[in-house]
Amino acid sequence: MSLERWLLALFLVLLPSCATGAKAPPPQRGPEPPEDVRLYALDCGRAEIADMSAFGDEGGPRELVASCYVIRHPRGTLLWDTGVNDTIAQTKGGVVHERTGIRFRVDTPLREHLRALNLSPADVEYVAFSHLHIDHAGNANLFPSSTWILNRRELEWATATPPPPTIDPELFSAHRTAKLKLLDGEADIFGDGAVTIVPTPGHTPGHQSLVVRLRRAGTLVISGDVCHTHANWQHRRVPPFNTDREESLRSMERLDALIGAARARFVVQHEPGDLSALPRFPAFLD
Ligand SMILES: [Zn+2]
Repeated sequence: MSLERWLLALFLVLLPSCATGAKAPPPQRGPEPPEDVRLYALDCGRAEIADMSAFGDEGGPRELVASCYVIRHPRGTLLWDTGVNDTIAQTKGGVVHERTGIRFRVDTPLREHLRALNLSPADVEYVAFSHLHIDHAGNANLFPSSTWILNRRELEWATATPPPPTIDPELFSAHRTAKLKLLDGEADIFGDGAVTIVPTPGHTPGHQSLVVRLRRAGTLVISGDVCHTHANWQHRRVPPFNTDREESLRSMERLDALIGAARARFVVQHEPGDLSALPRFPAFLD
């Protein structure tokens, strides 16, 4: 069932109780998500921002996290975003990125996180990208044998000549030989509504967000960079470097409606507090 149809079913279920003013029933989740779907949240690097006004937020320094997510599903393992490049872990205290002035740090390389789950990169069947900025595509080339799930517009934009200034094409050069699953819109990855990718363009042209439905933990919406902080989300602030401001605002509204209808937990990928509120890796939600 597509997410839209599922939300419609949810709406129809809720409608009678709204009309009579009766107490709302517990959250409806459509057909039960499958057993044995697990969501792991990983710290895939830190970004020290000298001045948050660069992100449209109130000024001042802040540390953001680059979080990644592993979903173990009976039909395969999916990694959502690949974080900051693992080689940065070799430099204690991190490395300052030349173009942006952001200091990136990696405490635990992604490869090591995967090892903790007894996974090698080749065991990851699907690698899905919210978008191709350096803090999301940093370890893309670790996965040459995986199927890469990308929005078509994102890949076209990120591989243009010359590349956009926010992109480092070398980080994801394995796209030339990897199996690609290019999305033109929403996609239900395993065909059972457990893992859905929804387009949320604006930050970049092919930006997308992730919806995960779990049997016990309920529905989670994982932001990508539809916003970088809760404050920006609440005040609908758009970073000046987003590729399309109006599209960014529309994406926020669309995602907010989806979160409301699904009574989902919203996880802002770059918010350290959102990561630490999730079970500490290798613990998981299911
Ligand atoms: Zn980012």
